[in-house]
Amino acid sequence: MNFYDAHNHLQDARLTPFREPVVMDAQRIGVRRMVVNGTGEHDWPQVAELAERYPDLVIPAFGLHPWQVGQQSTRWQEALRKYLECFPAAPVGEVGLDRWVEGHDVVAQAQALQAQLVLARELNRPVVIHCLKAFGVLENLLRESKPLPRGFLLHSYGGSLEQMRSFAALGGWFSCSGYFFHDRKAAQRKVFAEVPLDRLLVETDAPDMLGPEACITNVLPGGAASVALNHPANLSAIYAAVAQLREIPLTEFVEGMEKNFKCFFEKPYTNIEEYQAGSF
Ligand SMILES: [Zn+2]
Repeated sequence: MNFYDAHNHLQDARLTPFREPVVMDAQRIGVRRMVVNGTGEHDWPQVAELAERYPDLVIPAFGLHPWQVGQQSTRWQEALRKYLECFPAAPVGEVGLDRWVEGHDVVAQAQALQAQLVLARELNRPVVIHCLKAFGVLENLLRESKPLPRGFLLHSYGGSLEQMRSFAALGGWFSCSGYFFHDRKAAQRKVFAEVPLDRLLVETDAPDMLGPEACITNVLPGGAASVALNHPANLSAIYAAVAQLREIPLTEFVEGMEKNFKCFFEKPYTNIEEYQAGSF
């Protein structure tokens, strides 16, 4: 079967000691593409490198994550544009709003998000959004700005059913991670049971958002420190859990998700030579 990871962070430093075997494990279980999300100036180069090293597997995404707002150089927007121009299939992400994280400045986050939405419109890219405890602010911001031509994905969507419907009407897609299959997350599973099937995607968010045992097939090597980390090859178990939640036979569900993933993310690379020629 062919699996597509709508959101992970393969570039994350916690995966560095195991990156090669992790990629091999993921490919062995049938992961065909994964969207690897950059979060700021510090990790955009690694995301670009992974896209170069695994061109058939990695779809790079470049964006300023809300946790990184305020920690960038004055040239971050210029740098972001360069990465996006060099990778014409790259979504803008991970961007968003977060009022959960300590010391957040939601006004500064909203400014950074707006600037990146402008870029997504100009460059005709899908947008990958992280949102925690700020769904009302996000909805207003999206409602008041011009539509996004390629739509947006609310990854690991944690909002309400009602807001899900509003976001869907604004062009929103929703990806489900294994984390929502913990017993205590029953309310969020009810939301994912109602997401329109043609707006649904599946993600690991590896190395974060580890699910319960049923969503773990692969444990990272490296002893105790890596036990709590999510392996990208857990994707097939997460697919099985979401298919069961949606009461759809697995093979049919897998085919549907492939169609959805391609519809939202895929455009052919045309400009990788320019990146390889060292335009940075
Ligand atoms: Zn993420």
